[in-house]
Amino acid sequence: MSTATRPQLAYLTAALDDLKSRRLYFRLRILEGEQKPVATFDGKEVINLSSNNYLGLTTHRALRRAAQDATKRLGVGSGAVRTIAGTMKLHMELEEQIARFKGTEACVVFQSGFAANAGAVAAILGKEDLIISDELNHASIIDGCRLSKATIKVFAHKDVKDCERICQETANWPGKKLLITDGVFSMDGDIAPLPQLCDLAEKYNCIMMVDDAHSSGVLGRGGRGTIDHHNCHGRVDIQVGTLSKAVGAIGGYVCGSRDLIEFLYHRARPFLFSTSHPPSVTATCQAAFALLDSPEGEKLIKKLWANTKFFKRQLKKLGFNTGLSETPITPIMVGEAAKAFEFSRRLFEEGVLAVAVGFPTVPEGKARIRTIVTATHRRDDLKRTLEILARVGKSLGII
Ligand SMILES: *Cc1c(COP(=O)(O)O)cnc(C)c1O
Repeated sequence: MSTATRPQLAYLTAALDDLKSRRLYFRLRILEGEQKPVATFDGKEVINLSSNNYLGLTTHRALRRAAQDATKRLGVGSGAVRTIAGTMKLHMELEEQIARFKGTEACVVFQSGFAANAGAVAAILGKEDLIISDELNHASIIDGCRLSKATIKVFAHKDVKDCERICQETANWPGKKLLITDGVFSMDGDIAPLPQLCDLAEKYNCIMMVDDAHSSGVLGRGGRGTIDHHNCHGRVDIQVGTLSKAVGAIGGYVCGSRDLIEFLYHRARPFLFSTSHPPSVTATCQAAFALLDSPEGEKLIKKLWANTKFFKRQLKKLGFNTGLSETPITPIMVGEAAKAFEFSRRLFEEGVLAVAVGFPTVPEGKARIRTIVTATHRRDDLKRTLEILARVGKSLGII
């Protein structure tokens, strides 16, 4: 049987040809071996500035051991969705552990951060409701908003005045209202103005929701996230986080009141209709949160910020435009997508992996390469990275 594209799908081939002609086509880079600060992609050893492995936990000994022990004890799969027969004791223990970490009554874990956002927003709102959303919120929030069928109003990025304008215009909205923002924005690395947004949510009676995917394990005491960083405890109804970034494994979670979590147990579709994590994943996450609360975790977060500050300062000295970043996510702005892709390709040849992002991940004309340093990059790795960035950046006229 032929696997060639049948005429029904020829339009996809045409779309790919179009991407190729605009030099926006890419192939997946293949990681050989472990996800580490210096890693081998497509057979080439490079300094890796593209993972979300903030604390180096993807290869941490204690987490590996936890995964192996859990597999030995409990097998490789949970065998069912949570509501049928797939809730294992360690699933409940992890949820309690995360709730304690975040200082909330309860927590529910999803298969991914994407599922957590999409599942939670779609479950708690309906078509009579209103969502007020930052224009740069993550795709999983946007999809959750669309799935809910609520009316969506978008405010300019981090623009509290624009957000209040929408709040005023919709003050008499008959349904429920949700104000939703990323805690740290995934493409720009800037931090949401949470205290001011919480003020608006309180003044205009909105449910307040924050997605802390990129700040858990990074910002706040022991990596507790932007709510802790901004001291907004008790002002955010729904806190989302991921287990796939700093925590080093896979998964997502929602924290909040006991009733919110119980409601999501009953109504969040990824929870009801998709199988729960295998024991290895859950045990890995338990070990990760234990580590975050230990002196070693504290040391890793300190190291992450020391590396971040060094790298940002040197980039600025070299004349790169790092946008509005305040966190380890540091974009190097390029502008035109084709040029950003060229920059990234040349960096790879020279031994640095820094992926280019263009439309539709970021707005048109705001293409960039996106860098993330981690706690486990050595200072020498970063110095070599800066030399290569300077050389390639100059040859392309970016600096
Ligand atoms: C990465 C990310 C997610 C998705 O998390 P996964 O666990 O990878 O599915 C959700 N929200 C934001 C802001 C993110 O950056």
